[in-house]
Amino acid sequence: MTHKAGFIGIVGKPNVGKSTFSNLLIGERLSIISPKAQTTRHRILGIINEENYQLIISDTPGVIKPNYKLQEHMMSVIGDIFNDSDLILTMIAADDAELPDEIIEKLGKSKQAKILLINKCDLIKAAEIEILIDKYLKMNLFKQVFAISAKNGINKSFLISDLLPYIPEHPPFYPKDQLTDRNERFFVEEMVREAIFYNYKQEIPYATQVEVIQFKEDTTIIRIVATIFAERESQKGILIGPKGVGIKRIGIAARKLCEEFFGKQIFLDLQISVKKDWRKNDQTLKRFGYKSE
Ligand code: GDP
Ligand code: MG
Repeated sequence: MTHKAGFIGIVGKPNVGKSTFSNLLIGERLSIISPKAQTTRHRILGIINEENYQLIISDTPGVIKPNYKLQEHMMSVIGDIFNDSDLILTMIAADDAELPDEIIEKLGKSKQAKILLINKCDLIKAAEIEILIDKYLKMNLFKQVFAISAKNGINKSFLISDLLPYIPEHPPFYPKDQLTDRNERFFVEEMVREAIFYNYKQEIPYATQVEVIQFKEDTTIIRIVATIFAERESQKGILIGPKGVGIKRIGIAARKLCEEFFGKQIFLDLQISVKKDWRKNDQTLKRFGYKSE
């Protein structure tokens, strides 16, 4: 029997539903989902394993103009996707269906196969969906255009098997029981970040970074110690909140997410520390895993 294996990158503006879709495909919540833009900072690989194929899916941060060093890194991650993937899934949202020129330009230069996904089709009428599909097919850039609704788990006309024609014959790249290239600590850090996104508006979530300093798994419980880094003392104060109510809320939300993810009881100890202007500093970005060289 032949076996297919390949890399699929999901690209698009922030907030169109890339992470929701990627989690749906993989069947696990690997990526943070948030109503705010720019929650996904890393390239996260999720792996779909079936008997005769392995699809390695990259969820990515949305394409934006970088304002600070962290965002520069986030954009360089996307650049790789346009060159390395066997298939590029470009995503737009039905209620905001313009594809930015920057993305069109990058797609035009890329030699890889491309499919367009129009997500959030629950938000517009069927007739409008047809108009969008026509418009994007006429661009002659995409092999196929699909209307989907990732949030409702309804893929409408789209199936995973639609991706297979674009995937080469190849033995598996990863062991067939592996779901992701990231370790447990990484997911804890992402879940604490997600809890911060749920509890704070505006600048705070973007200015924080999380580092797991201890992860100890027993038969019945996982004991985790993590530090939340803010950029300034004032942000630290806001995170702790009056009488510690802020940090308590983050801890409760993060623990719930972790318990669901690991299927085990979690003891989570969160500390808050200040790492001045970490988003602008090459050295701290490297320490937090954002710089590869
Ligand atoms: P990303 O920035 O592209 O990764 O977007 P996310 O996956 O984080 O989703 C952004 C927001 O869009 C979240 O609030 C999602 O719940 C919402 N969303 C995702 N897919 C759909 C969908 O099919 N329909 C609707 N109405 N909302 C969606
Ligand atoms: Mg995302």
